[in-house]
Amino acid sequence: MLPKKEFVMEDAPFWKTKPLSKMNPTEWESLCDGCGLCCLNKLEDWDTGEVAFTSVACKLLDGDSCRCKDYPHRQAIVPDCIQLTPKTVEDIGWLPPTCGYRLVRDGEDLYWWHPLVSGDPDTVHAAGISARGRTVSEEDVDVADLEDYLVDWPLTVGEER
Ligand code: SF4
Ligand code: SF4
Repeated sequence: MLPKKEFVMEDAPFWKTKPLSKMNPTEWESLCDGCGLCCLNKLEDWDTGEVAFTSVACKLLDGDSCRCKDYPHRQAIVPDCIQLTPKTVEDIGWLPPTCGYRLVRDGEDLYWWHPLVSGDPDTVHAAGISARGRTVSEEDVDVADLEDYLVDWPLTVGEER
C-alpha cells in the first residue's frame, strides 16, 4: 500500500482571517505601515464633503523619519489626533487607500510594500507611498495658506498587491 501523501496548509496571515475587532493589540499596531499620511492636514469641501490632503503635517510628525515624535503622549499634545479603533476606522471616510486599516476593513489584502508582507519597515518609504521627506510642518504654515499645499500623492497606491 502506498503511503498517504501529507499536505501542509500554510497558515493564512492574521489580517486575512480576522476582522479588525478581533485583533489583539500587537496585531492591531502592526497593521499601521508607518506611512504618516493620516498625520497630514486635510481640507474638507463644505458643500460636497470631499476631503483633500495637503503636504502640511501635524507638528508632532518628524518629516525625516515619518514617525510621531511623542506617540505615547500625542493626544495630550494634539487633542484632535484621531485614535484609530475598529469603530473609528469604520466611520472615517478619508483614510488613504493604502492604509492597512482601511484595506482590511474593506476586505482587501495588504500591498507588497507593507512591512507585514515585506518584513522590512523601509519598503513603505522605498515604494514612494509614505509622507517621508515630502512634508512641511504646520508650525511653519499659516492656516489661511493651506490651499496652497494641496497634494494628490497620498491617494496613489503604487504597484499591485
Ligand atoms: S494612514 Fe493608516 S497605515 Fe498610514 S500611518 Fe496612518 S494609520 Fe498607519
Ligand atoms: S500626534 Fe502624532 S500620530 Fe497624531 S497626527 Fe500628529 S504626528 Fe500623527
